[in-house]
Amino acid sequence: MSADYQVHGDVAVISLNNPPVNGLGLTTRVGITDGLAKANADAAVKAIIITGTGKAFSGGADIKEFGSPKAMQEPNLLSVILAIENSSKPVVAAMHSVVMGGGLELALGCHYRIAAPGCSVALPEVKLGLLPGAGGTQRLPRVLGVEVALNMIVSGEPIKSEMLAMLPGQKLFDRMAASAESLAGEALAYARSVAAARPLPLVRNLPCKHPLGDAYFQFTRNMVGAMAKNFPAPLKCIAAVEAATRMKFDEGMLAERDLFINLMWTPESRALRHLFMAERATSKIADVPADTAQRSIGSLAVIGAGTMGGGIAMNFLNAGIPVKMLEMKQEALDRGIATIRKNYESQVNRGKLKQDKYEQRMALLSTTLDYADLKDADMVIEAVFEEMGVKETVFKKLDAVMKPGAILASNTSTLDMNRIASFTARPQDVIGTHFFSPANVMRLLEVVRAEKTGKDVLATVMALGKKIKKTTVVSGVCDGFIGNRMIEQYSRQAGFLLNEGCTPAQVDKAVEKFGFAMGPFRMGDLAGNDIGWAIRKRRAVERANLKYSKTADLLCELGRFGQKTNAGWYDYVPGKRDAIPSELVLKMIAAHRESLGITPRKVPDDEIVQRLVFALVNEGAHILEDGIAAKASDIDMVYITGYGFPVFRGGPMHYADQFGLFNVLQAMNRFAANPLDDAEFWKPAPLITRLAAEGKSFS
Ligand code: NAD
Repeated sequence: MSADYQVHGDVAVISLNNPPVNGLGLTTRVGITDGLAKANADAAVKAIIITGTGKAFSGGADIKEFGSPKAMQEPNLLSVILAIENSSKPVVAAMHSVVMGGGLELALGCHYRIAAPGCSVALPEVKLGLLPGAGGTQRLPRVLGVEVALNMIVSGEPIKSEMLAMLPGQKLFDRMAASAESLAGEALAYARSVAAARPLPLVRNLPCKHPLGDAYFQFTRNMVGAMAKNFPAPLKCIAAVEAATRMKFDEGMLAERDLFINLMWTPESRALRHLFMAERATSKIADVPADTAQRSIGSLAVIGAGTMGGGIAMNFLNAGIPVKMLEMKQEALDRGIATIRKNYESQVNRGKLKQDKYEQRMALLSTTLDYADLKDADMVIEAVFEEMGVKETVFKKLDAVMKPGAILASNTSTLDMNRIASFTARPQDVIGTHFFSPANVMRLLEVVRAEKTGKDVLATVMALGKKIKKTTVVSGVCDGFIGNRMIEQYSRQAGFLLNEGCTPAQVDKAVEKFGFAMGPFRMGDLAGNDIGWAIRKRRAVERANLKYSKTADLLCELGRFGQKTNAGWYDYVPGKRDAIPSELVLKMIAAHRESLGITPRKVPDDEIVQRLVFALVNEGAHILEDGIAAKASDIDMVYITGYGFPVFRGGPMHYADQFGLFNVLQAMNRFAANPLDDAEFWKPAPLITRLAAEGKSFS
């Protein structure tokens, strides 16, 4: 049973006990109803307290039950709340720390509520594309007023109990305890003080109205509708709260249930729930148990103060970890530090960072030109030029000076991590940390596990990634790791689309309408088309038999590298980022088409999207087969956090699962038959063929 039962004199205390946050799983729910029954049957008990042991009152639904029938198994949360309401003895919720989702709904079913200051109070269901489904939309407006409640339900954001307690007329808390420590004692005294009160007050009996009625709801629908765009849940939250103001309580509850069940089945909610689990799953590595001993990282060194080095350093300064930066020349250090300062100052100017915090962070940063100064650092991250020779020099020096047990990491995006590790006499300490640019902003961190990387090193770097608030995904060693290896196929396919008749703007628009933050050509212009060009030239020999459109090379031969040259796939006005279709580029593409004897055709938008997305999916499947990614959900996290894949579609692999792998396969076969595409390109990964034949999915 995940709830404890104790009697203190004439008060029974039911303590939810389901670590880490007292999730309301089946055994916890049974614990509550059993406790209620016992207390009601015991003549010596006059009042009942429900509270939470450990770090929370309750964080809501138990994520282990997510999407399983167990979540609705009786007693489900609605029945538990009904049992509380029907208790003949008063039930007091004694809340501390975390009061969220179903936890708050449970408290709202109690007759009385006492809270400690410092509680985070929220109904965060909207973040999973849902709405509170156990009366939250009907009861919260009755205790906080329609506007405050609706804001909380639509945003899902937590508010501190002491702030809510200050709202005039609020009925959420009958009492505030002086502190979390005194809550238990104060709750007992309060329960005794209400033991004889009859009738017992119920939130359901409170009135629920907004003075402006229709006009208010129309206004919020307009506001929220414009912001929610691809997400249906926020508008449904409004509908549910509106129902609370228009209907009798029990009818409102039915309306809430209907809306909730409808949302459960939306692709958007499935995508959000998938990503919620996927994010948690990133840190689970099959052969590295959760209790693997970690190394302690109290200080860090960064080699190279360029674009990436500076951003990487900021992540650690933000987390309070001292950083020492090393460069070859003082000027390079000065430039790097100036950029870090500029970034922080812009945050200060925008009110995002307090001046004293900025100074504290800068005080953690030091610089050196001498490798000997790095000898005490617990970890070093190298971010120097992308050349194997330079990496070799740096890693040999690091091997010579770093203390035993220090972790040696490289930010390389294309080079072989096994080779980099082999430059040292301690390959077990070497690992890849592939940050994305700008490294202080982008959430994704690919952690590259080389052949000999120690398990403790991997566990340490995964935990460190969490500490600096990154989504940290493990990748094996291969060309491009997970993200860039897939994007190469996507870019190749985008090139075929140009050959066939599309314009860059048409491709970008189709993909952006699908939900991508940016289409492939605008992305190329932003990142710099010369980067891919250099890689293609370097790999010309290996790529000799690979079919790809020559348009990207022709573009670079014109010096059109993108935004930095004010000309790429599009034209740019200096200082602005608007992509203006370029006549010259259109002519260049048309001339290339003509040289190949292609008569252009109008490619429909959905074909554009499918060809680009399934190009990602097929390579993703190869990556799974090769063991580069351990699970499909890791690939989804890479694409959501690093490549602007639309969140409401859940990532490429989840999208393919929803589309149906059989259907994906059919589409790929269709594309393979197109003589202007590439049959070799569309050869399905054996994993897709097998799963489709078995009626299975990646997940
Ligand atoms: P950069 O040219 O902006 O910076 C590299 C810095 O390293 C320069 O300041 C240079 O002076 C310094 N440096 C070179 N050799 C050195 C040495 N021997 N000792 C000390 N300092 C040295 O390059 P960047 O864009 O920051 O890239 C750095 C690394 O990060 C590369 O491996 C790159 O592939 C990788 N990376 C870059 C990006 C990106 O978008 N720029 C993204 C992911 C990974």
